[in-house]
Amino acid sequence: MDDRPFFPLSLRTLAATALGVAEPTTRALTPPIHMATTYIRDADNGYSTGFIYGRQDNLTIHQVEALIAELEHASEAMTFGSGMAAATAVFLSLAPTHVVVPKVMYWGLRQWLRALPRYGHQVTFVDMSDLDAVRSAIVPGRTGLVWIETPSNPLWTITDIEAVCEHAHLAGALVCADSTVPTPVLSRPLDLGCDLVVHSATKYLNGHSDVVAGAVATARVDATWERIREIRFNHGGFLGPFDAYLLLRGLRTLDLRVTTQSHSAALLAERLLRHPAVRAVLYPGLADHPGHAVAARQMTGGFGGMLSIRLGSRAAAIAVAGEVRLWRRATSFGGTESLIEHRASIEGEGSPCPDDLLRLSVGLEDPEDLYRDLLQALRILT
Ligand code: PLP
Repeated sequence: MDDRPFFPLSLRTLAATALGVAEPTTRALTPPIHMATTYIRDADNGYSTGFIYGRQDNLTIHQVEALIAELEHASEAMTFGSGMAAATAVFLSLAPTHVVVPKVMYWGLRQWLRALPRYGHQVTFVDMSDLDAVRSAIVPGRTGLVWIETPSNPLWTITDIEAVCEHAHLAGALVCADSTVPTPVLSRPLDLGCDLVVHSATKYLNGHSDVVAGAVATARVDATWERIREIRFNHGGFLGPFDAYLLLRGLRTLDLRVTTQSHSAALLAERLLRHPAVRAVLYPGLADHPGHAVAARQMTGGFGGMLSIRLGSRAAAIAVAGEVRLWRRATSFGGTESLIEHRASIEGEGSPCPDDLLRLSVGLEDPEDLYRDLLQALRILT
């Protein structure tokens, strides 16, 4: 930003202004999309701009990465063609080691991790909300990485980030947090001690259900970070420039979207708790949620836009999902439109997700309309 104020800017301002990037020739307020896949060499055979080839060099990508790094309080950030490409790059960057990962986490990554020994790593799945279990799973000198996802998808259990980092670091292990659900609006894992933070930018960071993207941000530029960069280059996991442009555009409203979605989710959770057909509401913002105190300490300004409800049976859950009119029956989350999903149907074998659970991704609609729609759908159970 040319005329950046002298005082520190809030996340909301940084995101809304996209760090103030402007196109230098015309001074266009909105940056153009750089589509070139190659760049001209200097007459002396050098590349004085530093831009060489499109699988690693692109200004639109650099712009969105600079913003994500700033929002996460990171040294640097790297974008990827998907959240899975970002997450798997972290595991693949390590020399063969032992990794400790959550039992409750994004199911696609969990399935991939079950086959992790194929890549030379040993893996232990653990209840990350149970600190004693985490402590006994970490083996000093042997464990190379602890993976956190909090709140965890789709049960929304909470991990104490600082406590896990303290223990992992004493044992010589790195800690990486998948922070897709809270986003930097509600949680900054690097400030709490994590070494790396990962996002499926497909979700809240982009926020409009029209880009598949991933990101990793790092506390420091070191050998691990350079190996992650190498993996992105060699495996070809680079994000397309058009998607990077859309992501930058989506990020401008991140704070407004996540704050609103989080308030609406809290309101719905409180009301659904009192509904006779709802057996349980899983939401860390509820006072009786087992992780509420930790979440209140480590999350700022809300508990997220995701919640789940349990309805007593698979048939009841699927029937209610079939009755909604405003909520959309679809997978994924973090967009402007509210989504409802019978999670067990997609998670498949070995999932800790109960059969009677519906996952709700709260969008930007009026929460009163969302509640009314759920009420009319739940009527079939009362
Ligand atoms: N992490 C979390 C928490 C997710 O929910 C997802 C996808 O649903 C991913 C990572 C993977 O991201 P992507 O679908 O962008 O590859």
